[in-house]
Amino acid sequence: MSNLKNSQTYLKKVGIIGAGPAGLATAIALKQQGIEVHIYDRARAFRPIGAGLTLSPNGLRSLAAIAPDIARQLKLQGSQIKRFKVRTSKRGWPIITQRIFGDKYDQPFMAIRWFHLQEILRSQLPPDNFHLDHRLIAFEQNHQSVTLCFENNKAATVDLLIGADGIRSVVRKQLFGVENPTYSGWMTWRGVLKYQHRLLPPHQATVFANKGKIFLVMDNGDGYISWSLEMLSETSHRSQNAQEVKERVIQELAKWHPVVQKVIDLTDADIIVERPVGKPLILPKWGDNRVILVGDAAHYMGPHLGQGTNTTFEDVWELSACLSNYGDLGEALEYYEKSRIERTTIVQYRTLFSAAQMFNPFLSPKRFFNKSFAAVPEQAQIGQKAFSDWLYGYNLPF
Ligand SMILES: Cc1cc2nc3c(=O)[nH]c(=O)nc-3n(C[C@H](O)[C@H](O)[C@H](O)COP(=O)(O)OP(=O)(O)OC[C@H]3O[C@@H](n4cnc5c(N)ncnc54)[C@H](O)[C@@H]3O)c2cc1C
Repeated sequence: MSNLKNSQTYLKKVGIIGAGPAGLATAIALKQQGIEVHIYDRARAFRPIGAGLTLSPNGLRSLAAIAPDIARQLKLQGSQIKRFKVRTSKRGWPIITQRIFGDKYDQPFMAIRWFHLQEILRSQLPPDNFHLDHRLIAFEQNHQSVTLCFENNKAATVDLLIGADGIRSVVRKQLFGVENPTYSGWMTWRGVLKYQHRLLPPHQATVFANKGKIFLVMDNGDGYISWSLEMLSETSHRSQNAQEVKERVIQELAKWHPVVQKVIDLTDADIIVERPVGKPLILPKWGDNRVILVGDAAHYMGPHLGQGTNTTFEDVWELSACLSNYGDLGEALEYYEKSRIERTTIVQYRTLFSAAQMFNPFLSPKRFFNKSFAAVPEQAQIGQKAFSDWLYGYNLPF
């Protein structure tokens, strides 16, 4: 059990849009406080999609505070990453080998399949908390409640609406009129498969790198590996079908090391996820009255620092702790918004720096930010070691 008690009486029923990591973890945390939760998702069914995901000590610490059993299950099902290796793209020569000391932060670095994470979170909630095939199209709020309108002509009334509806959030659009993130110049492809090779040993993350292209392979446990290709591309052109997606990845990695080609060759075309990467969305506000955002909807940041899901779990801990500790909804949401915007803005800027570092590992944050940006938080510009300590050592408020 976590220490999230129900100390408030102003919330009886909460509606959550989205059954991704943000929506599921929020539902678990609020349910523990005795709040009636309803999760609405546009999906018709939960399907085994997605590739691999990294969980870092700050995200795991937040999850462990929400529900220790979830963190335990993740550690059993995923793989603890203990070594990071960078190799040349063609010959596979090792350039950098780094041991990862997760213990330093009391929680490990882990890799797990996205669908496993979703299943573990979902298993904590009874089926009657879920409403699939419910695409939110609009909401209306007054001082007492929020009414949700779905594409299937159904409606629901709740005390609080939580927008956990991801990068193209409808809740965010209605709140602030903010459009989807614009294209950043990066494309990504991800896949997962059962495969073993001596260059891809258990508990290791391996990068094959060439200017402008990064191919990352992570042990996901249980004989599975996940891979991702991140690449600069002038256009965000999407392929027409699964076979075309796979052909493109094969083409982009032609002449790379045989193990890279084997990994792609053995990946089922239907499970490769092709996505353009958006520019980080930095919002000055995350909510209004009885509506609040969490996860990608609030602070989409792109994949280069591996913090999308991890900062999402931080959001969930802070939101649920604020609701548990404050006797007034307005105060609770105000504290949450202020605290989270301050931290995630720093991580969003640092994610931009991480992308730039892929071309120049010796680039310093100060040099990068001084060149291209104004008004970057000082914390986003500190040295690598101090930044890692700040990020992974995240101290849970409350
Ligand atoms: C299918 C899928 C696969 C992914 N695979 C990976 C992966 O392999 N590796 C990785 O690092 N990251 C992956 N991600 C992204 C990662 O999970 C998120 O960036 C991050 O965890 C933030 O989670 P979130 O819950 O805020 O957003 P998301 O995970 O994007 O979840 C948003 C949810 O909201 C639902 N939704 C959106 N709009 C509406 C609407 N109008 N009405 C109702 N429901 C709506 C979506 O169906 C989705 O379930 C994936 C996301 C998705 C949706």
